Amino acid sequence: MIKFLDLKKINQAYETAFQEKLKSVLDSGWYILGKEVQEFETNFANYCGTRHCIGVGNGLDALVLIFKGYIQLGKLQKGDEVIVPANTYIASILAVLQADLVPVLVEPKLETYNIDSSLIQRKVTPKTKAILAVHLYGQLAEMDKINKIATENDLLVVEDAAQSHGAISNQKSAVKNQQSSVAHSFYPGKNLGALGDGGAVVTDDSDLAKVIIALRNYGSETKYHNDFIGVNSRLDELQASFLNLKLPNLDADNERRRVIAKRYISEIKSDKIILPFWDLSKNHVFHLFVIRTKDRGDLQHYLMENSIETMIHYPIPPHKQKAFEYWNDLSFPITEKIHREVLSLPISPVMTMDEVDYVVKVLNKY
Ligand SMILES: *Cc1c(COP(=O)(O)O)cnc(C)c1O
Repeated sequence: MIKFLDLKKINQAYETAFQEKLKSVLDSGWYILGKEVQEFETNFANYCGTRHCIGVGNGLDALVLIFKGYIQLGKLQKGDEVIVPANTYIASILAVLQADLVPVLVEPKLETYNIDSSLIQRKVTPKTKAILAVHLYGQLAEMDKINKIATENDLLVVEDAAQSHGAISNQKSAVKNQQSSVAHSFYPGKNLGALGDGGAVVTDDSDLAKVIIALRNYGSETKYHNDFIGVNSRLDELQASFLNLKLPNLDADNERRRVIAKRYISEIKSDKIILPFWDLSKNHVFHLFVIRTKDRGDLQHYLMENSIETMIHYPIPPHKQKAFEYWNDLSFPITEKIHREVLSLPISPVMTMDEVDYVVKVLNKY
Protein backbone atom coordinates (compact mmCIF):
# COMPACT_ATOMS: atom_id res chain seq x y z
CA MET A 1 0.00 0.00 0.00
CA ILE A 2 1.36 3.43 -0.91
CA LYS A 3 0.20 5.73 1.84
CA PHE A 4 -0.97 9.22 1.02
CA LEU A 5 1.32 10.59 3.74
CA ASP A 6 3.40 8.33 5.97
CA LEU A 7 3.67 10.53 9.07
CA LYS A 8 5.00 7.69 11.18
CA LYS A 9 7.94 7.20 8.82
CA ILE A 10 8.59 10.95 8.68
CA ASN A 11 8.81 11.20 12.47
CA GLN A 12 10.57 7.90 13.15
CA ALA A 13 13.69 9.40 11.58
CA TYR A 14 13.84 11.72 14.61
CA GLU A 15 13.00 9.12 17.27
CA THR A 16 16.25 9.24 19.26
CA ALA A 17 16.52 13.02 19.03
CA PHE A 18 12.87 13.45 20.08
CA GLN A 19 13.46 11.26 23.12
CA GLU A 20 16.49 13.30 24.16
CA LYS A 21 14.45 16.50 23.81
CA LEU A 22 11.60 14.99 25.82
CA LYS A 23 14.03 14.15 28.61
CA SER A 24 15.57 17.60 28.52
CA VAL A 25 12.19 19.38 28.63
CA LEU A 26 10.96 17.00 31.31
CA ASP A 27 14.05 17.62 33.44
CA SER A 28 13.83 21.38 32.97
CA GLY A 29 10.60 21.48 34.95
CA TRP A 30 9.38 24.34 32.67
CA TYR A 31 6.77 23.47 30.06
CA ILE A 32 5.15 26.66 28.73
CA LEU A 33 6.87 29.73 27.21
CA GLY A 34 10.42 28.74 28.05
CA LYS A 35 13.72 28.49 26.29
CA GLU A 36 12.67 26.00 23.57
CA VAL A 37 9.88 28.34 22.41
CA GLN A 38 12.26 31.29 22.52
CA GLU A 39 14.84 29.36 20.54
CA PHE A 40 12.27 28.30 17.97
CA GLU A 41 10.99 31.86 17.60
CA THR A 42 14.54 33.02 16.89
CA ASN A 43 15.25 30.12 14.53
CA PHE A 44 12.02 30.49 12.57
CA ALA A 45 12.29 34.28 12.29
CA ASN A 46 15.82 33.80 10.90
CA TYR A 47 14.60 31.11 8.54
CA CYS A 48 11.80 33.37 7.26
CA GLY A 49 14.01 36.46 7.15
CA THR A 50 11.64 38.41 9.39
CA ARG A 51 12.27 40.48 12.48
CA HIS A 52 9.72 38.68 14.68
CA CYS A 53 8.24 35.23 15.19
CA ILE A 54 5.61 34.52 17.83
CA GLY A 55 4.81 30.87 18.59
CA VAL A 56 1.09 30.20 19.09
CA GLY A 57 -1.26 27.26 19.62
CA ASN A 58 -2.10 26.46 15.98
CA GLY A 59 -2.41 27.93 12.48
CA LEU A 60 -5.98 29.11 12.89
CA ASP A 61 -5.04 31.06 16.02
CA ALA A 62 -2.03 32.55 14.23
CA LEU A 63 -4.46 34.08 11.71
CA VAL A 64 -7.01 35.14 14.34
CA LEU A 65 -4.31 36.77 16.49
CA ILE A 66 -3.00 38.75 13.51
CA PHE A 67 -6.49 40.16 12.89
CA LYS A 68 -7.13 40.78 16.60
CA GLY A 69 -3.73 42.42 16.85
CA TYR A 70 -4.56 44.84 14.03
CA ILE A 71 -7.88 45.60 15.76
CA GLN A 72 -6.04 46.43 19.01
CA LEU A 73 -3.69 48.69 17.05
CA GLY A 74 -6.67 50.50 15.53
CA LYS A 75 -5.75 49.39 12.00
CA LEU A 76 -8.89 47.27 11.69
CA GLN A 77 -12.33 47.62 13.22
CA LYS A 78 -15.10 45.12 13.85
CA GLY A 79 -17.21 44.80 10.71
CA ASP A 80 -14.42 45.69 8.28
CA GLU A 81 -14.30 43.65 5.10
CA VAL A 82 -11.45 41.29 4.32
CA ILE A 83 -10.89 39.89 0.82
CA VAL A 84 -10.35 36.10 1.02
CA PRO A 85 -10.10 33.37 -1.61
CA ALA A 86 -13.34 31.42 -2.14
CA ASN A 87 -11.10 28.41 -2.82
CA THR A 88 -9.30 27.73 0.44
CA TYR A 89 -9.32 25.53 3.50
CA ILE A 90 -12.13 26.74 5.76
CA ALA A 91 -9.70 27.89 8.49
CA SER A 92 -8.77 30.99 6.46
CA ILE A 93 -12.40 32.12 6.46
CA LEU A 94 -13.12 31.12 10.06
CA ALA A 95 -10.19 33.28 11.19
CA VAL A 96 -11.75 36.37 9.63
CA LEU A 97 -15.10 35.61 11.27
CA GLN A 98 -13.56 34.89 14.69
CA ALA A 99 -12.05 38.37 14.66
CA ASP A 100 -15.54 39.87 13.97
CA LEU A 101 -14.52 40.87 10.44
CA VAL A 102 -16.47 40.19 7.25
CA PRO A 103 -15.02 37.81 4.65
CA VAL A 104 -15.58 38.76 0.99
CA LEU A 105 -14.96 35.76 -1.25
CA VAL A 106 -13.04 36.02 -4.53
CA GLU A 107 -12.73 33.29 -7.18
CA PRO A 108 -9.37 31.58 -7.89
CA LYS A 109 -7.53 31.11 -11.16
CA LEU A 110 -8.29 27.65 -12.48
CA GLU A 111 -4.61 27.09 -13.35
CA THR A 112 -3.07 27.92 -9.96
CA TYR A 113 -6.02 27.38 -7.59
CA ASN A 114 -4.92 30.58 -5.82
CA ILE A 115 -6.92 33.82 -5.66
CA ASP A 116 -7.33 35.56 -9.04
CA SER A 117 -5.71 38.92 -8.32
CA SER A 118 -7.40 40.49 -11.36
CA LEU A 119 -10.78 40.06 -9.62
CA ILE A 120 -9.82 41.71 -6.33
CA GLN A 121 -10.17 45.39 -7.22
CA ARG A 122 -13.86 45.14 -8.15
CA LYS A 123 -14.62 43.64 -4.71
CA VAL A 124 -13.00 46.53 -2.86
CA THR A 125 -15.53 48.79 -1.10
CA PRO A 126 -15.02 51.64 1.38
CA LYS A 127 -15.32 48.99 4.13
CA THR A 128 -12.49 46.82 2.73
CA LYS A 129 -9.44 47.02 4.97
CA ALA A 130 -7.37 43.89 4.28
CA ILE A 131 -6.55 41.07 1.88
CA LEU A 132 -5.94 37.56 3.20
CA ALA A 133 -3.76 35.75 0.65
CA VAL A 134 -3.54 31.95 0.94
CA HIS A 135 -0.63 30.05 -0.63
CA LEU A 136 -2.67 26.95 -1.38
CA TYR A 137 -1.03 23.53 -1.78
CA GLY A 138 2.41 25.16 -1.25
CA GLN A 139 2.32 27.52 -4.23
CA LEU A 140 2.63 31.25 -3.62
CA ALA A 141 -0.27 33.51 -4.52
CA GLU A 142 0.61 36.43 -6.83
CA MET A 143 2.03 38.57 -4.04
CA ASP A 144 3.50 41.28 -6.27
CA LYS A 145 0.07 42.01 -7.75
CA ILE A 146 -1.71 41.60 -4.41
CA ASN A 147 0.73 43.94 -2.63
CA LYS A 148 0.27 46.51 -5.40
CA ILE A 149 -3.53 46.44 -5.06
CA ALA A 150 -3.12 46.68 -1.29
CA THR A 151 -0.85 49.71 -1.54
CA GLU A 152 -3.17 51.47 -4.01
CA ASN A 153 -6.21 50.91 -1.78
CA ASP A 154 -4.47 51.28 1.58
CA LEU A 155 -5.21 47.69 2.64
CA LEU A 156 -3.35 45.42 5.04
CA VAL A 157 -1.98 42.16 3.67
CA VAL A 158 -2.16 38.97 5.73
CA GLU A 159 -0.70 35.73 4.39
CA ASP A 160 -1.89 32.23 5.26
CA ALA A 161 1.29 30.18 4.83
CA ALA A 162 -0.04 27.08 6.63
CA GLN A 163 0.72 25.02 3.50
CA SER A 164 3.80 26.87 2.29
CA HIS A 165 6.65 26.97 4.82
CA GLY A 166 9.82 27.65 2.90
CA ALA A 167 8.16 28.87 -0.30
CA ILE A 168 10.45 31.78 -1.00
CA SER A 169 8.92 35.21 -1.13
CA ASN A 170 5.98 34.82 1.21
CA GLN A 171 8.69 35.80 3.65
CA LYS A 172 10.18 38.31 1.23
CA SER A 173 6.85 39.95 0.58
CA ALA A 174 6.47 40.39 4.33
CA VAL A 175 9.83 42.13 4.40
CA LYS A 176 9.06 44.39 1.48
CA ASN A 177 5.66 45.30 2.75
CA GLN A 178 5.78 46.61 6.33
CA GLN A 179 2.02 46.22 6.45
CA SER A 180 2.28 42.45 6.07
CA SER A 181 2.11 39.53 8.47
CA VAL A 182 2.23 35.79 7.87
CA ALA A 183 0.55 32.88 9.68
CA HIS A 184 2.03 29.37 9.82
CA SER A 185 0.63 26.06 11.07
CA PHE A 186 2.69 23.16 12.44
CA TYR A 187 -0.16 20.66 12.38
CA PRO A 188 1.53 17.23 12.02
CA GLY A 189 0.72 16.86 8.31
CA LYS A 190 2.14 20.23 7.21
CA ASN A 191 5.59 20.52 5.60
CA LEU A 192 7.00 21.46 9.01
CA GLY A 193 4.89 19.42 11.42
CA ALA A 194 4.95 19.00 15.19
CA LEU A 195 3.66 15.95 17.11
CA GLY A 196 0.55 17.89 18.00
CA ASP A 197 -0.81 21.36 17.35
CA GLY A 198 1.38 24.40 16.85
CA GLY A 199 1.53 27.64 14.90
CA ALA A 200 3.40 30.90 14.51
CA VAL A 201 3.06 34.46 13.30
CA VAL A 202 6.01 36.04 11.50
CA THR A 203 6.17 39.76 10.79
CA ASP A 204 8.48 42.77 10.58
CA ASP A 205 5.88 44.94 12.29
CA SER A 206 7.20 45.44 15.85
CA ASP A 207 3.95 46.98 17.13
CA LEU A 208 1.95 44.01 15.87
CA ALA A 209 4.46 41.53 17.33
CA LYS A 210 4.25 43.19 20.72
CA VAL A 211 0.45 43.01 20.80
CA ILE A 212 0.36 39.36 19.66
CA ILE A 213 2.90 38.36 22.32
CA ALA A 214 0.42 39.69 24.88
CA LEU A 215 -2.76 38.46 23.14
CA ARG A 216 -1.59 34.81 22.99
CA ASN A 217 -1.08 34.85 26.77
CA TYR A 218 -4.32 36.32 28.22
CA GLY A 219 -3.48 39.77 26.91
CA SER A 220 -0.72 40.02 29.42
CA GLU A 221 2.83 41.21 28.95
CA THR A 222 3.64 41.30 32.63
CA LYS A 223 2.22 38.52 34.75
CA TYR A 224 -1.20 39.42 36.22
CA HIS A 225 -1.33 42.72 34.30
CA ASN A 226 -3.82 42.31 31.46
CA ASP A 227 -3.67 45.07 28.88
CA PHE A 228 -5.85 43.42 26.23
CA ILE A 229 -8.72 40.94 26.07
CA GLY A 230 -6.47 38.06 25.15
CA VAL A 231 -6.73 34.31 24.65
CA ASN A 232 -4.72 31.27 25.67
CA SER A 233 -2.85 30.19 22.54
CA ARG A 234 0.75 29.30 23.25
CA LEU A 235 3.17 27.00 21.49
CA ASP A 236 4.32 24.59 24.20
CA GLU A 237 7.93 23.77 25.05
CA LEU A 238 7.78 20.16 23.93
CA GLN A 239 6.36 20.96 20.49
CA ALA A 240 8.83 23.81 20.08
CA SER A 241 11.69 21.45 20.96
CA PHE A 242 10.55 18.99 18.28
CA LEU A 243 10.21 21.81 15.74
CA ASN A 244 13.74 22.99 16.59
CA LEU A 245 14.94 19.52 15.59
CA LYS A 246 12.98 19.39 12.34
CA LEU A 247 13.44 22.95 11.05
CA PRO A 248 17.04 22.44 9.80
CA ASN A 249 15.74 19.74 7.41
CA LEU A 250 12.81 21.73 6.02
CA ASP A 251 14.58 22.96 2.88
CA ALA A 252 15.89 19.48 2.05
CA ASP A 253 12.41 18.01 2.68
CA ASN A 254 10.84 20.59 0.37
CA GLU A 255 13.47 19.87 -2.29
CA ARG A 256 12.61 16.19 -2.07
CA ARG A 257 8.94 17.07 -2.62
CA ARG A 258 9.93 19.12 -5.70
CA VAL A 259 11.93 16.21 -7.13
CA ILE A 260 8.85 13.97 -6.84
CA ALA A 261 6.61 16.68 -8.31
CA LYS A 262 8.97 17.12 -11.27
CA ARG A 263 8.85 13.40 -11.94
CA TYR A 264 5.05 13.31 -11.75
CA ILE A 265 4.77 16.29 -14.07
CA SER A 266 7.17 14.95 -16.69
CA GLU A 267 6.15 11.26 -16.53
CA ILE A 268 2.38 11.19 -16.02
CA LYS A 269 0.92 11.09 -19.51
CA SER A 270 -2.85 10.85 -19.60
CA ASP A 271 -5.41 12.94 -21.43
CA LYS A 272 -7.78 12.28 -18.53
CA ILE A 273 -5.55 14.03 -16.01
CA ILE A 274 -4.73 17.73 -15.60
CA LEU A 275 -1.39 18.20 -13.85
CA PRO A 276 -0.62 21.15 -11.56
CA PHE A 277 0.78 24.37 -12.98
CA TRP A 278 4.18 25.28 -11.57
CA ASP A 279 5.73 28.69 -12.18
CA LEU A 280 9.40 27.67 -12.04
CA SER A 281 10.45 31.19 -11.03
CA LYS A 282 8.85 30.53 -7.64
CA ASN A 283 9.81 27.73 -5.39
CA HIS A 284 6.61 25.76 -4.92
CA VAL A 285 6.93 23.54 -1.84
CA PHE A 286 4.30 20.98 -2.90
CA HIS A 287 2.54 20.54 0.39
CA LEU A 288 0.09 18.72 -1.86
CA PHE A 289 0.35 17.41 -5.42
CA VAL A 290 -3.11 18.03 -6.77
CA ILE A 291 -4.38 16.78 -10.13
CA ARG A 292 -7.79 17.28 -11.71
CA THR A 293 -9.94 14.77 -13.53
CA LYS A 294 -13.56 14.70 -14.74
CA ASP A 295 -14.56 11.44 -13.05
CA ARG A 296 -12.70 11.74 -9.76
CA GLY A 297 -14.59 8.97 -8.00
CA ASP A 298 -13.63 6.52 -10.72
CA LEU A 299 -9.94 7.47 -10.68
CA GLN A 300 -9.74 7.38 -6.88
CA HIS A 301 -11.37 3.95 -6.86
CA TYR A 302 -8.98 2.67 -9.56
CA LEU A 303 -5.95 3.93 -7.60
CA MET A 304 -7.24 2.37 -4.37
CA GLU A 305 -7.71 -0.97 -6.15
CA ASN A 306 -4.04 -0.65 -7.07
CA SER A 307 -3.08 0.09 -3.44
CA ILE A 308 -2.47 3.82 -3.91
CA GLU A 309 -4.05 6.04 -1.28
CA THR A 310 -5.25 9.49 -2.37
CA MET A 311 -7.13 12.32 -0.66
CA ILE A 312 -9.40 15.19 -1.70
CA HIS A 313 -8.39 18.74 -0.77
CA TYR A 314 -11.18 19.69 -0.51
CA PRO A 315 -14.50 18.00 -1.30
CA ILE A 316 -16.88 20.86 -0.32
CA PRO A 317 -16.17 24.57 -0.91
CA PRO A 318 -16.55 26.84 2.14
CA HIS A 319 -19.57 28.67 0.67
CA LYS A 320 -21.42 25.34 0.31
CA GLN A 321 -20.79 24.23 3.90
CA LYS A 322 -23.73 23.86 6.24
CA ALA A 323 -21.97 26.20 8.70
CA PHE A 324 -22.33 28.99 6.13
CA GLU A 325 -25.96 28.43 5.18
CA TYR A 326 -26.36 32.12 4.33
CA TRP A 327 -23.76 31.66 1.54
CA ASN A 328 -25.13 28.41 0.13
CA ASP A 329 -26.93 30.11 -2.77
CA LEU A 330 -23.89 32.07 -3.89
CA SER A 331 -22.24 30.89 -7.07
CA PHE A 332 -18.48 30.53 -7.48
CA PRO A 333 -18.26 28.29 -10.54
CA ILE A 334 -14.46 27.98 -10.66
CA THR A 335 -14.23 27.15 -6.97
CA GLU A 336 -17.02 24.60 -7.37
CA LYS A 337 -15.38 23.00 -10.41
CA ILE A 338 -12.09 22.68 -8.51
CA HIS A 339 -13.83 21.07 -5.55
CA ARG A 340 -15.54 18.58 -7.91
CA GLU A 341 -12.40 17.55 -9.79
CA VAL A 342 -9.32 17.69 -7.54
CA LEU A 343 -7.46 14.64 -6.26
CA SER A 344 -4.22 14.70 -4.24
CA LEU A 345 -1.55 12.09 -5.09
CA PRO A 346 0.91 10.75 -2.50
CA ILE A 347 3.87 13.08 -1.97
CA SER A 348 6.24 13.43 0.98
CA PRO A 349 9.95 13.61 1.81
CA VAL A 350 9.95 9.91 2.74
CA MET A 351 8.30 8.61 -0.43
CA THR A 352 10.76 6.40 -2.35
CA MET A 353 11.52 6.68 -6.08
CA ASP A 354 10.21 3.11 -6.50
CA GLU A 355 6.90 4.27 -5.08
CA VAL A 356 6.86 7.23 -7.48
CA ASP A 357 7.62 4.82 -10.38
CA TYR A 358 4.69 2.69 -9.34
CA VAL A 359 2.21 5.59 -9.04
CA VAL A 360 3.26 6.86 -12.49
CA LYS A 361 2.95 3.40 -14.03
CA VAL A 362 -0.52 2.82 -12.59
CA LEU A 363 -1.75 6.27 -13.63
CA ASN A 364 -0.44 5.85 -17.17
CA LYS A 365 -2.47 2.66 -17.51
CA TYR A 366 -5.70 4.38 -16.44
C1 LIG B 1 -3.93 23.78 8.12
C2 LIG B 1 -4.40 25.08 7.65
C3 LIG B 1 -4.79 26.09 8.53
C4 LIG B 1 -4.99 25.90 9.99
O1 LIG B 1 -3.94 25.36 10.69
P1 LIG B 1 -4.22 24.59 12.08
O2 LIG B 1 -2.86 24.47 12.67
O3 LIG B 1 -4.86 23.30 11.74
O4 LIG B 1 -5.11 25.45 12.90
C5 LIG B 1 -5.11 27.33 8.00
N1 LIG B 1 -5.08 27.56 6.68
C6 LIG B 1 -4.72 26.60 5.80
C7 LIG B 1 -4.69 26.94 4.36
C8 LIG B 1 -4.38 25.33 6.25
O5 LIG B 1 -4.06 24.39 5.37
